Amino acid sequence: MARLYVLGGNGWVPSPKRSTNCYALETRRSLILFDCGVGVSRLSDPMMRLVLERVPRVIVLLSHYHHDHIEGLHMLPHFLRDHEVTIAGPGVLVTGFDCAAVLARFGSSPLLPQPITAWGETFRKGFSIVELREGRNKIAGETIEVVRQPHSDPSVGFRVRDVAYVTDTVVRAETAAFAKGASVLVHDAWLDADDEALGHADLRRHGTAHGAAAIAKEAGVSELVLGHLNPSYDEPRLERMLISACDVFPNTRLANDFTVVEVRSKDDEDLPGGAAPEGPIATETGGL
Ligand SMILES: [Zn+2]
Ligand SMILES: [Zn+2]
Repeated sequence: MARLYVLGGNGWVPSPKRSTNCYALETRRSLILFDCGVGVSRLSDPMMRLVLERVPRVIVLLSHYHHDHIEGLHMLPHFLRDHEVTIAGPGVLVTGFDCAAVLARFGSSPLLPQPITAWGETFRKGFSIVELREGRNKIAGETIEVVRQPHSDPSVGFRVRDVAYVTDTVVRAETAAFAKGASVLVHDAWLDADDEALGHADLRRHGTAHGAAAIAKEAGVSELVLGHLNPSYDEPRLERMLISACDVFPNTRLANDFTVVEVRSKDDEDLPGGAAPEGPIATETGGL
């Protein structure tokens, strides 16, 4: 059994209920972060502090380099000083950009006092920046499947231990194949049926809630999490999006921060800490 924690369910801009993109997958060996938006600040929550105490190693997987997916990187030294840390992002062959070079641009003087590329001095237990290639990657003992995706700048989707994380891309048949048989699919749900009817320009780079549900159904996953939610949409509209998705794939939920999802896998051992609590388990105030 692994466990997935929603730490940042919004795209672009945080809202009171949701910070920006970050999800944490707890396994017996590691904590794997899918993206590092400001949602990573949720690691300060007491529940997440206990999780950090249980794992010696953290792997940060970056789907692409838009700010709402990397702007929490500078917080990592605060939370992970006692961990072995690996940051892995798509490389030249996937995006046209070298991962370490992009991170050096984002996190060096005068923007950060200690450049990200020099964080080996910060994380004494070990630090590395790894470039992801399409297909199977082996990183710090974990197998990471990577698929290239269309977006305004190319992004990648991840499959790790029965979790498929697919954000900042359109609804497409390839995702159903990629997520086939996974336990949990997290999918971009930036838009809704009204946007689709109006031919919204973002349909060329983002998904819809009902489209994500169709992918979940096709892939045969157990559970769908609608992620990269749109900060321009109020809660009633997001609830309508959830209903539209549930009409297609009933076991769907919105990526509300602090939601905990059990990831059912035939070859995983049970995690320490007992069964995860149902639903949101921390306060829903937050933002930043
Ligand atoms: Zn985004
Ligand atoms: Zn993006």
